[in-house]
Amino acid sequence: MTAQPTPVLAYIGLGANLGDARSQVLGALAQLQTLPQTRLRAQSSLFRSAPVDAGGDDYVNAVAQLETRLPAADLLLALQAIEHDFGRQRPYRNAPRTLDLDLLLYGEQEIAGAALQVPHPRITERAFVLIPLLEIDPLILIPGRGAAHQFAPAVAGQRIQRI
Ligand code: ADP
Ligand code: MG
Repeated sequence: MTAQPTPVLAYIGLGANLGDARSQVLGALAQLQTLPQTRLRAQSSLFRSAPVDAGGDDYVNAVAQLETRLPAADLLLALQAIEHDFGRQRPYRNAPRTLDLDLLLYGEQEIAGAALQVPHPRITERAFVLIPLLEIDPLILIPGRGAAHQFAPAVAGQRIQRI
């Protein structure tokens, strides 16, 4: 694993709607604090949201802001290892999950790989990502798309509440 010369601000979207969703999200935030070459700088409130394009229970969501020297690909692998630790299974697309960790933003980089797309392609369409992200940084810019807050009105119909 090669460290980046300068730290990058990365944002992680957390979600769970299977098992004890709240404690899994809190447990994942604790795990993020233990990642190598990484510091958890901020975390949003916890939110409860309705599933989008899926069935199942309501989700518990949050967003974390990391300062990291891990390259983006290594950070994604680390996130997948945490998902795995929490018993994540993928029986079908958008299935209920014990834990989902998405790499939302990685500094100002735009990455269009097969296994990793950053900014995460659905950031601007989902209240459960956008609202916690804006709570951490109301002025945050999404590379290639501009200020995140301009997308908030379009997701205002999605059910989400701070818990
Ligand atoms: P979901 O899109 O519902 O979060 P998964 O968590 O099962 O679905 O992720 C499916 C795939 O998405 C992963 O195998 C991963 O390689 C890919 N992926 C692409 N970009 C990202 C990203 N920015 N963050 C997390 N996973 C990503
Ligand atoms: Mg995911």
